[in-house]
Amino acid sequence: MDSIGSQSAQSVSIQHQSKNPMTFVAIVGGNMTIQIQEQEIEPRKISLERMKTRSREFRENRENPVRRSGITRGMRSLILGAADGRPCPTCGTPMRFHRNSPCIESPDMATIEHILPIKEGGANEPDNLIAMCLACNRARGYAYNQTSKATREEIDDVLEWLWLQVNQHRLSHVVELQFALLYPNQHRIFERNWAKQYARTQKEMKI
Ligand SMILES: [Zn+2]
Repeated sequence: MDSIGSQSAQSVSIQHQSKNPMTFVAIVGGNMTIQIQEQEIEPRKISLERMKTRSREFRENRENPVRRSGITRGMRSLILGAADGRPCPTCGTPMRFHRNSPCIESPDMATIEHILPIKEGGANEPDNLIAMCLACNRARGYAYNQTSKATREEIDDVLEWLWLQVNQHRLSHVVELQFALLYPNQHRIFERNWAKQYARTQKEMKI
């Protein structure tokens, strides 16, 4: 496993090499590169490029009224049922689906998360929905809300973080992405909130 943990914050960036197949490269120290190939990300889910385009269109048009269809009950139980016992895509904790007692809340409860937030134009479509543990879902929403989105660059940065986050567990087998270096603001808020919910230290993330 390659590690980019020892580099300083300024020297690390993620660049998109191509859209098809999707290739990402972590540029470290200006010369060392780590390739993240398409097969290492969730292929059936919304791409980062699509997230950025959709968010831009949504914000420019201040578009509203495309009436949203809700998440159907069938889609909900399909996504959550399949998640039971599987690792959360972000923190790796095995998720639980309380099929028979949906009112009992626990941080590891499987929930449905929008990869591209509704506030950025995210749809209730299968490619934008993913099962995620309750703690990650909440911490992620909190970090998104708390992050400055005043410029397009800041928005794209947040979207990149959101997208990489839903692939974090999967990517951890390939490359050790140092979220604390790449996205320090979002990461700090996320981890603090996540740890509080699980009542554990942040280093116990199972990735
Ligand atoms: Zn999680």
